[in-house]
Amino acid sequence: MENLDNFIKGMPKAELHVHVEGTLEPELKFQLAKRNNLDLPYESEDEMRAAYDFNDLTSFLKVYYEGMSVLLTEQDFYELTYAYLLKAHSQNVVYAEIFFDPQGHTSRGIAFDTVINGIRRAQIDAEKKYGIMTQLIMCFLRDMSSESAMETLEHSLPYKEWIIGVGLDSDERTNPPIKFKDVFERARRENFFLTMHCDVDQQDSTVHIWQTLNEIGVDRIDHGVNSLEDGVLCREIKDRNLTLTVCPISNGYVTESMKTAEIKAMLEKGMNVTVNSDDPAYFPGYMNENLIVTQRKAGLSKAQVVQLSANAFEGSWLADEDKAAFLRLLSEYVAWKYTFNILPK
Ligand SMILES: [Zn+2]
Repeated sequence: MENLDNFIKGMPKAELHVHVEGTLEPELKFQLAKRNNLDLPYESEDEMRAAYDFNDLTSFLKVYYEGMSVLLTEQDFYELTYAYLLKAHSQNVVYAEIFFDPQGHTSRGIAFDTVINGIRRAQIDAEKKYGIMTQLIMCFLRDMSSESAMETLEHSLPYKEWIIGVGLDSDERTNPPIKFKDVFERARRENFFLTMHCDVDQQDSTVHIWQTLNEIGVDRIDHGVNSLEDGVLCREIKDRNLTLTVCPISNGYVTESMKTAEIKAMLEKGMNVTVNSDDPAYFPGYMNENLIVTQRKAGLSKAQVVQLSANAFEGSWLADEDKAAFLRLLSEYVAWKYTFNILPK
């Protein structure tokens, strides 16, 4: 099998599934805790990393929410976002759609405005300095009430121009998509794009994925790996041209495998599957590490690696002319580096 590590590192990439709060590296967590006079329950960055020993979604979420407690001021959110964008840029990520979890902060008494102003300022500065383009997706926490989600949606409306879509994350157990039907209907009326997490190997996974199609009418599915269990569902996802944002290293922590064979199976079915980093500070690995491990474990060809990147640009919520420009950049990279043409799907 050809070694494609360097090819992957140099390839222009888009990331569609990354939680900005999940990019909070231990080093920055310690810096922010110090600045905000907070005590962390760890002596050092290494000790903190060693405690990231998750075996399911619930054990991860506990540490994830604990970590958020150091984020208090607009400057904290700025530095968090800027650090991710710098890292993404260093890996040739040229475009990212970034999730943020406002309820994880408003529930601790931090104003919505503080959160979004800090993130937005970092987006603008990073684009100016490094050319990396980004858009924001606001996620609702599904283990909170639908009323709280609706309130959050209403709170976000003055910032509508800064938010491209809404999503749904956190603990899926007993919190099916349908619980948020009204909120997502309202979001649709406000012209947001819609996506939802359908986490891997959850109870009733395929039922939940069907709900996102039939009850919510999503534009994308985050994870959604279990769709492979239902041939009709796979066809439906393909017919609707829905993108799936799969996160292999993250899956490797919270389920029994990285699901790389499943990513390959989706590619072979012609589904618009993409590879993403999810919460890279907690499940160590940004875009390059996720793509490299997928390519190696599943034995993907160069054409399949390029397809994963093309899928992400095609599945993005960019305007058509921006999508076309990024796809041109990708095909130029491939043609320049290796004589090879990307076939339109
Ligand atoms: Zn996620």
